Amino acid sequence: MIPVTKTYLPNIEKYQEYVERIFASNQLTNNGVLVRELENKLKNYLGVPYLVLVSNGTLALQLAYKLLDLEGEVITTPFSFVATTSSLIWGGLKPVFADINPETLNINVTKIEEKITWDTSCILPVHVFGNPCEVEKIQEIADRYNLKVIYDAAHAFGTGYKGSNILNFGDVSIVSFHATKLFHTVEGGAIILQNEELYKKAKQLINFGFGSNGIPEVLGINAKMNEFQAAMGLSVLDDIDIILSKRRQVHKFYQGRLASISHINFVSFNEFGTRNYSYFPIILKNEELVLGVKQALEEHEIFPRRYFYPSLDRLSFVDSPPMEVSGEMANRILCLPMYGELSESMVDKICHIILNQITIMEKGE
Ligand SMILES: *Cc1c(COP(=O)(O)O)cnc(C)c1O
Repeated sequence: MIPVTKTYLPNIEKYQEYVERIFASNQLTNNGVLVRELENKLKNYLGVPYLVLVSNGTLALQLAYKLLDLEGEVITTPFSFVATTSSLIWGGLKPVFADINPETLNINVTKIEEKITWDTSCILPVHVFGNPCEVEKIQEIADRYNLKVIYDAAHAFGTGYKGSNILNFGDVSIVSFHATKLFHTVEGGAIILQNEELYKKAKQLINFGFGSNGIPEVLGINAKMNEFQAAMGLSVLDDIDIILSKRRQVHKFYQGRLASISHINFVSFNEFGTRNYSYFPIILKNEELVLGVKQALEEHEIFPRRYFYPSLDRLSFVDSPPMEVSGEMANRILCLPMYGELSESMVDKICHIILNQITIMEKGE
């Protein structure tokens, strides 16, 4: 069986060593030693000034909204994982979609301005599949209308941009450390901030709003990462270079076999960004081909995923006019299996099935 992604498991003895430290300290959560160690190591690795670990990426989004006191409408992308939009609605905010650029699959910067109203408080783009958004243009619009910018960078762990890390753009970025993501802490996530004031506020909000005097000073929530999550994170972070280089290799295998096939298109990647190889999406001519290829692979116990389907404007709990480009692209995209353990021969097999199926279906037309 070949799934779309496979959780990276570190050496079990290494994990056990961290767990032994937790048992010795008898502190399982509440900003323990391992959480602080992971926070520091991640800050160094990513090159970000302030980082707060939380229990999952969705809570990181919700905290970001509270941190910046958002109200009213938030302009966001209809092409993402459901949490980008559902977290807004859950938080009493209204998602207003700006359609996507069909080449980058990110929010189309030329469609943002027409969505701004007196009720708009923030722009929430997503670096979809780790592809950096047009961050300067987005910041320019935000500055002109006095809006906040939050990046859902759940896919962008380790993505570079113009010599910096993509997480350093916007007022706040969030990442997800869910087990299916490139770097993980079983469940988990982080909020990345650019100043100490927001950092201190975030630390307070994730811990019931407690101040240094032990009294809740502001309205908070419980979003703390625990020590076992941090132990997993520290173990995985030790191997991050291997994880990335193996993924780069798998990406190369795919590209070597699929790049020159005229029936398959790829996301156009931001020329100033460096890849983290988090996903391998292919864009086919129509939904029929996507379904045909998916079924052909599944018959061989290979399970690609339709990330992201459907376009978020189509969800029952979302109130939005239809987003044409996102709707079309959501029908045409298939994410192929992507994880370090995929061998060249497995990639060969996957590509062979795909090409075979496309040939059969093109002939039948
Ligand atoms: C995974 C993901 C999230 C949610 O993160 P969790 O840690 O699973 O809560 C949010 N946004 C995007 C784009 C994601 O892919």
